[in-house]
Amino acid sequence: MIFRVVEIFASINGESRRAGAPAVFVRLAGCNVRCTYCDTLWALEPNVAFTPMTEDDIYDKILSYGITNVTITGGEPLISKGIDLLFKKLSEDERLYVEVETNGSIPIKPYLGIKNRPSFTLDYKLPGSGVERTMCMENFALCESMDTVKFVCSDEADLQRALEIIRQYHLDERCAVYLSPVWGRINPQIMVEFMLENRLNGVKLQLQLHKFIWDPDKRGV
Ligand code: SF4
Repeated sequence: MIFRVVEIFASINGESRRAGAPAVFVRLAGCNVRCTYCDTLWALEPNVAFTPMTEDDIYDKILSYGITNVTITGGEPLISKGIDLLFKKLSEDERLYVEVETNGSIPIKPYLGIKNRPSFTLDYKLPGSGVERTMCMENFALCESMDTVKFVCSDEADLQRALEIIRQYHLDERCAVYLSPVWGRINPQIMVEFMLENRLNGVKLQLQLHKFIWDPDKRGV
């Protein structure tokens, strides 16, 4: 299978379970939604430059870095045709810890049976994203302890909606749950106060580390 790879690079993981650890990022072209706060719009353009790579090419490139945490991201990686073949290829190497960042709108069910499957980091797109209607709600009933649901919050209305979804699906008892601020839209202090007021013991605040370390608009980090 040929995948449209817009970039592969090594950096630190800025926003997941392994935040702060070195990771190789594989960014695939294209996305099926348009969030109001997207910071990778350039990767969604129909004419974005990409390198055609097979699953074997991608695996070899990952190994060349000598780094075992891998993040498959986009865009939206689950719209790439044959993505299961890439997941299966990477799952054969038990040294790798593979995360897939997905926007929550595409069913993850077809991939849950893969042996040594990747960990999914599912966004729940809140009202501030402008695309909440696209969410595949089944995903939030299916995620398991190895998975993560992330709520990227723009304002206090988003925090309230996140709380509803956490409670409705008992997410804090079933998987990792993160609240993360949209860069520049909401003060993280408000989020901390909300977490304390609502006794969100199973939830963590997460800041996008790479935006503190580098220019927030810098690519390839
Ligand atoms: S889902 Fe992700 S890549 Fe797609 S528009 Fe939203 S933020 Fe951007």
